[in-house]
Amino acid sequence: MTVKKTSDAIETFRRYLKLHNHNITETRDRIVKEIFMMNYHFEVADLWKRLHGETQISSSTVYRTLDLLVEAGLVKMVDLGEAHAHYEHIFGRRDHDHLVCTDCGKVIEFPATAINDEIEKTAAEKEFTISSHSIQIYGSCRNCAAKNKK
Ligand SMILES: [Zn+2]
Ligand SMILES: [Zn+2]
Ligand SMILES: [Zn+2]
Repeated sequence: MTVKKTSDAIETFRRYLKLHNHNITETRDRIVKEIFMMNYHFEVADLWKRLHGETQISSSTVYRTLDLLVEAGLVKMVDLGEAHAHYEHIFGRRDHDHLVCTDCGKVIEFPATAINDEIEKTAAEKEFTISSHSIQIYGSCRNCAAKNKK
């Protein structure tokens, strides 16, 4: 992740906050910066660990900022079949969906291009306006499938 991209994300988020009359704060900038350094499907606890001890940031601020980032389209919530939600930053990334191994937790990303075409066609037919989509396919990765056979 380049520095440039993180600053672009912060800039875009600031613009969103201003447009929707939310406060622009150093803490929010700080949270965005941390999130864009995590290049995996993280959970709130991971983010919390990275922020903890460095600054006085309340958990409500973390959750609220995460919600706003999702609303702004910079971060996406990903359901990996666990009790808690996972997130990933999607700003400047190609749209993708996930194959999730329910045995080892491995997540394989694949481009959403073909699926998107189908979704858009269906939405147009039903006169439905899409705000976002999220597809997770659950199963076993190659390694786990081989182990399961034994
Ligand atoms: Zn988890
Ligand atoms: Zn696996
Ligand atoms: Zn992903």
